[in-house]
This record gives sequence, C-alpha cells and structure tokens, in this order.
Amino acid sequence: MHEVGLMTSAIDAVLDQARIHGAKRVHRIVLRIGALAGVEPESLRFAFEVVTRDTLAADAELQVDGVPARAYCAACAEEFGVDGGAIMACPRCGQFSGDLRQGRELELFRIEMS
Ligand SMILES: [Zn+2]
Repeated sequence: MHEVGLMTSAIDAVLDQARIHGAKRVHRIVLRIGALAGVEPESLRFAFEVVTRDTLAADAELQVDGVPARAYCAACAEEFGVDGGAIMACPRCGQFSGDLRQGRELELFRIEMS
C-alpha cells in the first residue's frame, strides 16, 4: 500500500512546518489528489490515522480535494476533461492526446495549525 509512504512524506512536511512556526497543534491538512494519481482515498485516510498517531497532527482533520483529469488537444488548442483516465480522445476532433495537464496531482495544499 504505497499510500502509507506518501502519507509519511506528507506528514513529515506538515510536522516540519509546525516546528518552524512553533505550532502546538495541527487542525487541518488539505491534500490535492488528482483523479489519475493512483491513490485510494480510503487507503489514504487509513494511512493518515496511522502516520499521525502520537504527533502534533493526531487530532487533525484530513481533507482530500479531488482534482479532475484534463488533457490538452494541440489541434483544437483546448483542454478537455478525461473520464476514467485510460482513453484521452479529444471530444471535438477525436484526436488522441498524451498531454495530460492535470489529474496526477499529489500535493500538500494547505495546513492549518496553532
Ligand atoms: Zn481536438
């Protein structure tokens, strides 16, 4: 389950920030996860519980913001939404595009602490 590894790095970064800012407690952590990031939100939540145990972030709320997948069609010079992720054909001209513009995000977006 690679979600544990991902969450460990994310929480390490959070705790670094908490230390730098002299925070006593982390209240909320917001992650941005792309639809094609290959991460299970359920596994992520489980990993979060495990990784934050006995840390400043033990009582923090985890918010996961999903980012829809979008690809770019060079022929139409337009972005289009990608469903499911496997096939990225432009809905206007039908050309296939390998130019994914968003949907693989896996990032720490916001930390609230005090
Ligand atoms: Zn097109």
